[in-house]
Amino acid sequence: MWSAGTLESSPISSDDESYETISTDVLIVGAGGAGLRAAIEAFDKGAKVLIACKSLLGKAHTVMAEGGIAASLGNVDPSDNWKVHFSDTIVEGQFLSNWKMVEIFAKEAPERVLELEYYGALFDRTKDGKIMQRPFGAHSYRRLCYIGDRTGLELIRTLQDQVIKRGIDYIDEVVVTSIFKDPATGRVAGAMAIQLRSGKLLLIKCKAIILATGGCGKVYAVTSNSWESTGDGISLAYRAGAELMDMEMIQFHPTGMIFPAGVRGMLVTEAVRGEGGILTNVKGERFMEKYDPKRKELSARDVVARSIYTEIMEGRGTPNGGVYLDIRHRGAEYIKKRLPSMYAQFLEFAGIDITKQKMEVAPTVHYHMGGVRVDPETTETTLKGLFAAGEVACGLHGANRLGGNSLSDLLVFGRRAGLYAAEHARSAKIGSISEEDIDKEISRILAPFKVTNGSNPFELKERVAETMWKYVGIVRNEQDLRKGLEEIGRIRLEAKHVQARGPRAYNQSWEACLSLWNMLIDCEAIIRSAIERKESRGAHTRSDYPKKDNANWLVNIVIKQKDGQMIHELVPVPKIPPDMEKLINTDEILVWQQQEKREQLLVRK
Ligand SMILES: Cc1cc2nc3c(=O)[nH]c(=O)nc-3n(C[C@H](O)[C@H](O)[C@H](O)COP(=O)(O)OP(=O)(O)OC[C@H]3O[C@@H](n4cnc5c(N)ncnc54)[C@H](O)[C@@H]3O)c2cc1C
Repeated sequence: MWSAGTLESSPISSDDESYETISTDVLIVGAGGAGLRAAIEAFDKGAKVLIACKSLLGKAHTVMAEGGIAASLGNVDPSDNWKVHFSDTIVEGQFLSNWKMVEIFAKEAPERVLELEYYGALFDRTKDGKIMQRPFGAHSYRRLCYIGDRTGLELIRTLQDQVIKRGIDYIDEVVVTSIFKDPATGRVAGAMAIQLRSGKLLLIKCKAIILATGGCGKVYAVTSNSWESTGDGISLAYRAGAELMDMEMIQFHPTGMIFPAGVRGMLVTEAVRGEGGILTNVKGERFMEKYDPKRKELSARDVVARSIYTEIMEGRGTPNGGVYLDIRHRGAEYIKKRLPSMYAQFLEFAGIDITKQKMEVAPTVHYHMGGVRVDPETTETTLKGLFAAGEVACGLHGANRLGGNSLSDLLVFGRRAGLYAAEHARSAKIGSISEEDIDKEISRILAPFKVTNGSNPFELKERVAETMWKYVGIVRNEQDLRKGLEEIGRIRLEAKHVQARGPRAYNQSWEACLSLWNMLIDCEAIIRSAIERKESRGAHTRSDYPKKDNANWLVNIVIKQKDGQMIHELVPVPKIPPDMEKLINTDEILVWQQQEKREQLLVRK
């Protein structure tokens, strides 16, 4: 059996085009919650599995998740059930979600949480020993199962234990750069990868690939996301010929830290508001009473983020350009017990004791609802043999994700991806990969070493992130979006001559060149979709089209490649069948039902 140890080797010269070949049934790209859960399932179904991840095993972005996992266990509010969770998710996703995916999700989330407990996760408990659940924005009931404010860490620890216990193969600090198809069948046949610690190239032959690469928050200058969230999976899928969807739907979390500069964008978990935190402007007004009198601070994320943005833009922001978030009334003991990480984060990074002082917060890019288009049941993408789960995939959260719905998404669809990829692998043969494709990819990824006096990838990445923050932000308009697209185009030209400096091993500038190229594809898809959607819905707010337009825009924007060009199509959102529609608890459903034009919506180009 191949083992990670075989990759440790002596220094490699920058023009060395040799590669090592590995074979497996199912390659899983990413070791966050989705990747690990997929690995367990695929392995248990008899597939040979290899996990490849860019960071160290156990360090995936999921460890940062704080507030909890949404599942309608009904432990605290017995009236909760999957139907209400279904309704909340559809309504807050502003009817852009795939209803089938939401149904599967809401039904299976409780089982996946109990399974996680069975695997060994130590949840906070009610007095009678059940898994504790807390309130979160726009969830009708207290629904988030949690471990203080360190839920993601416990989720990863637990799943990782299961992976190690099973002896599943993994290679960490490995960047997957491209997906190969068998030219005869058009199916997935393998991937090219780089081992960061040696600079060695790897050809991984396989029958199926599961993309579990997480989000693309790093395309923005202010984000809660970790360094690895450069949207590689989106670009890998797109370049291989799979379709993307809802790319314009970027979630701005209402509360990120704003100072000191080094921690700008770092998340202030929604659990602070879930535990009773109050938002006020510089005049001391509790402004959410004005924007959503019923739910106030626990309104949907898009609503709270836009409200904070409005307060700041209308001159009622704090001196550092944010608003105040206050939890002091809960008392020191309660805060330290329920929000230990928040307490430590503010004390350590900003010198603020949140038991005695108010926090200053502003919106930060947090999550991508868009991503790779998948089948709602199997998670297979539009490319045979390629599956996607977790934040990289799309269809579940529509135009706005509810807090806590991502972690349950990882478990529900991570498991399904593993299940169906293993099933696919059982009946498939390892395909062949053309030498020409391999050679082309090797020249592409080694090109940055051949450039002299080239551009600096770190500077270009920063320019990308500033461009997106400036022109494709929380409130958008056509003029800015077009400026953003032009600037991304200019950066793309410069990025052709980007230079990797130094040796191959642990070469961060090389990794930066490759992730920069991925980011540019993601940004183009985000901006093109944002220009196309001429309405405001959920996370996508257009100042030039401020209203939601159900008559014309109950569509998903699909992005794909045709003759080397990025094109888009508008595809009607799958119609919710009447028996499921009955579960949806909002007046807006009337708009949906009466919308006659809907049936006539053709695929528009
Ligand atoms: C601060 C913070 C708090 C959050 N809190 C919550 C919460 O309380 N509840 C909730 O539901 N959601 C929360 N979220 C959202 C949630 O954490 C993420 O959406 C989720 O963890 C994504 O998981 P994933 O498995 O899809 O990907 P990730 O955990 O991002 O993992 C991606 C994996 O892919 C690997 N990878 C990426 N590119 C490559 C490549 N080219 N080659 C090889 N490997 C690659 C990475 O190394 C990593 O292993 C939070 C997010 C943040 C930022």
